[in-house]
Amino acid sequence: MKYIDQIEMKGKRVFLRVDFNVPMDKEGNVTGDKRVRASIPTINYALEKGAKLIIASHLGRPKGKRVAEMSLKPVVKVLSDLVKKDVLFLDDCVGPAVEQAVAKMKEGDIILLENLRFQPGEDKNDAEFAKQLAALCDVYIDDAFAVSHRAAASNSAITEFVPVCAAGFLLKNEVEYFKKAMVNPAKPLAAMIGGAKVSDKIGLLENLIEKVDKIIIGGGMAFTFLRAAGNETGKSLCEEDMLDTARRIVDKARQKNVRFLLPVDAVIAPAATAEAEAKVCDVKDIPKDMIGLDIGPATISLFSDALKGVKTVIWNGPMGMFELAPFSKGTFQLAQAVADSGALSIIGGGDTDTAIKKAGLSAKMSYISTGGGAFLEWLEGKTLPGIAALEK
Ligand code: AMP
Repeated sequence: MKYIDQIEMKGKRVFLRVDFNVPMDKEGNVTGDKRVRASIPTINYALEKGAKLIIASHLGRPKGKRVAEMSLKPVVKVLSDLVKKDVLFLDDCVGPAVEQAVAKMKEGDIILLENLRFQPGEDKNDAEFAKQLAALCDVYIDDAFAVSHRAAASNSAITEFVPVCAAGFLLKNEVEYFKKAMVNPAKPLAAMIGGAKVSDKIGLLENLIEKVDKIIIGGGMAFTFLRAAGNETGKSLCEEDMLDTARRIVDKARQKNVRFLLPVDAVIAPAATAEAEAKVCDVKDIPKDMIGLDIGPATISLFSDALKGVKTVIWNGPMGMFELAPFSKGTFQLAQAVADSGALSIIGGGDTDTAIKKAGLSAKMSYISTGGGAFLEWLEGKTLPGIAALEK
């Protein structure tokens, strides 16, 4: 794969695929600029190198139709403020008006195209639509890791029709940290997996077992494993149809000599509310009418100790229902343990990112992935079409 810093952009028309899928309020104001900020290093670099920069993104799921609330127009001001330059917005992403505007561009100009998903060809990875996009540019740069797990015209088919294709800095970081975590990690390598359901994470667990030295399981999904091992788990989240799968995963870990750590105690409450009276109990003694909503103090110590001496840690999924204060300690303290371990830490998944931010520890992590679904599919060992297209 080529990276943006290995190609010539001076005077070239550069098509940059980004993820500006920003949150907006009902009035159409952008309420968070994190995704725009994430591609600013790529944008500034391209401008410094004299590119004529054509930026394209999706926003929401308009399903091939124009949906006024999903226009990228409100992003113009955000982008313009961040790069301290005017940005020309075009109300389509292909067609004669777009071609004419691009033909007039000078070095250092920026155009933001309208939502790619207003065109039916985008989600279908349609070659004809991709050709129209490709006709706008000399160079293609992909910086939209968050959509790499879905083949779309703007991240897959387009690469067939543009002579020079490369990854921007955001995508470069994702690729390089992924390699450090999964391809040639410094060992010991630990994976800490939490969140709600086992069923969402089977593929990931199966793949990780092949690579890691330790697996630490917390969150709601831990209760399915605890039940599979014969514990009463009360009203805790438990997927009855996953019990055999859970046993199979534990067996596989044993065969591979992977240390598989489950909670030994839990914070329980009669209801999942911030006001509920929370207690700590051993996982063997969860009453029938109680819900396990966080890992307990003995588990925090067990898991924190397991992270000591680890050289690389991959973390996805909170250890408990961290959104509610009485059940947030496990996630926050484990975030601290990851930070204290000194290991290279690679974090992914929207909730984990939110939890780490709430704990005030984002800056202590080595890398927080920008892709939720894409990061998980990568950990599952799947090929990501957006990455594969650049590697071709
Ligand atoms: P996921 O998207 O699968 O990573 O799940 C994240 C969600 O799992 C968060 O919203 C947490 O509140 C929730 N969660 C974590 N631990 C538990 C638990 N013990 N019981 C119920 N939900 C949980």
